[in-house]
Amino acid sequence: MGASDFLAPSVRWTELEHVIVGELAPLVQAIDREGLYPAEAMRSLGKAGAYRAHLQTQNTFAQADIAGAVQAMSKIGQTCGSTAFMVWCQDACAWYIEKGHSPALKQTLLPKVANGEILAGTGMSNPMKYFARIETLKLQGKKVAGGYVVNGQLPWVSNLAPDNILGTAFEVEGRPGGDAGRGQEVMAIFHCDWPGVALKPVPSFLGMEGTGTYALHFENVFVPQDYILADPIGPWLAGIRCGFVLLQVGMGLGIVQSCIDHIDRSNHTLGHVNHFLEDSAEQLRVELHDIIERVHAQSDQVLNSSDANFAEVLTTRLMTSELTLRATQSAMLHNGAAGYALASPVQRKLREGYFVAIVTPAIKHLRKELHRIRSSAQQ
Ligand SMILES: Cc1cc2nc3c(=O)[nH]c(=O)nc-3n(C[C@H](O)[C@H](O)[C@H](O)COP(=O)(O)OP(=O)(O)OC[C@H]3O[C@@H](n4cnc5c(N)ncnc54)[C@H](O)[C@@H]3O)c2cc1C
Repeated sequence: MGASDFLAPSVRWTELEHVIVGELAPLVQAIDREGLYPAEAMRSLGKAGAYRAHLQTQNTFAQADIAGAVQAMSKIGQTCGSTAFMVWCQDACAWYIEKGHSPALKQTLLPKVANGEILAGTGMSNPMKYFARIETLKLQGKKVAGGYVVNGQLPWVSNLAPDNILGTAFEVEGRPGGDAGRGQEVMAIFHCDWPGVALKPVPSFLGMEGTGTYALHFENVFVPQDYILADPIGPWLAGIRCGFVLLQVGMGLGIVQSCIDHIDRSNHTLGHVNHFLEDSAEQLRVELHDIIERVHAQSDQVLNSSDANFAEVLTTRLMTSELTLRATQSAMLHNGAAGYALASPVQRKLREGYFVAIVTPAIKHLRKELHRIRSSAQQ
C-alpha cells in the first residue's frame, strides 16, 4: 500500500467524514460567496480530532504525526479550501503552544485548542518574512513588571473572532541582539478580547472570504508572562519552522485531489477532446503521490532544525504550490464553461489555489529562502 492510500491511524476518519459531509459541505457556498465564518463547523472538526494528529501530547499515539495532520487537512480541503486554511491556522497555533515554554498554557489552553473548543489564528507571516529579510517586524513590545506591553498592527490574520486566540511575535524595544540588528524578538499568545486588541475589517478578497480574516491592531496590550512562548524567539523558531511549513501542504494537496476528481468526471463526456490538454489527471496523480511520499518521509524529521532539513521541507511546500496552480488551471480547462459558472466548485478551486501560492511562505518567499540556504551551503 502506497502513502497515498494509507489512512493515518492518528485521525478518526469516520467522525471526520461525518462532519465534512454533514456540516461543512452545505456551508461551502456561503463561506466562499457570503464570507460566512464557519465557527461551529470548525468546533465540530476539532471534536472529530482534526487538529490533534501532529500534537504529541494530545493524541493517543504520544507521537507527532505531521503526515496524519496533513492528510486530515487535505481531506477537508477537498471540500473547502478556505476551511483547510483555517485548519492549518488552528494546527499551527496548537503547535506553537505545545512546543512553547509556558507550562500554564500547555495545561490550560492546549487541550482546548486541540479539540476545537477555542479557535486559534497565527500572525506569523510578518515574522517569517522578517526572518527571511523581506520586511520589518510590525509589532513592538516593552518589558514591564509581570510581562510585556505590545503595540503595532498586523495587516491580515485569519481564523479570528472576538473569543479566539492567536500566536505572533514582537520585537523588544531597547534590548539589542535581534536578527535584523534591532531588538530581540519574542513569541507570545494573545486573546482577541484582551484590552487594546482590535479586529478591524479588511477590504474584500477574491476568495477566502469566510476565513475570519482581520487586520489586527494592538494598542498598549499587556501580555502576562505565562503567555510568552519563547524569549528570545531565535533557537525556538528554528525548531518549529519545519512543522509550520510542512503542515500547510495539506491545503494544497486537498485542492489538487479534488481537481483530479473534477478532471476525471469531465473526461466521461469530454475525454475525446480533453486529451489534447496538458496536466492530465494521470500526470497530476503521479506528482501528488510524489509529494505525499515526501510528506511521509519528512514527517519524522520535523524537529530537525538544520537548514538542510528545512530546505527539503521548503521544497515540498514549493512543489505543492506549483502543482496546485497547475491542477486548478487544468481542472478549469478540462471542465470548460461548466467550470466557469459561478456555482461551479472548479472556479472556486482556481481562486483557492492562488491563495496556496501567495500565503506566507509565498512562492517568491520559498524561492528566496531556498536560494539563501543553497548559497550558504556552497560557501
Ligand atoms: C485572505 C488572506 C488571509 C491571510 N491570513 C493570514 C494569517 O492568518 N496570518 C498571517 O500572518 N498572514 C496572513 N495573510 C498574509 C499572507 O500570508 C501574506 O503575508 C500576504 O499575502 C502578503 O504576502 P506577499 O507575498 O504579497 O507580500 P510582499 O509582496 O512581500 O509584500 C507586500 C507587503 O506590502 C504590504 N501591503 C501590500 N498591500 C497591502 C494592503 N492592501 N494592505 C496592507 N498592506 C499591504 C504588506 O506589508 C505586505 O506584507 C493573509 C493574506 C490573505 C490575502
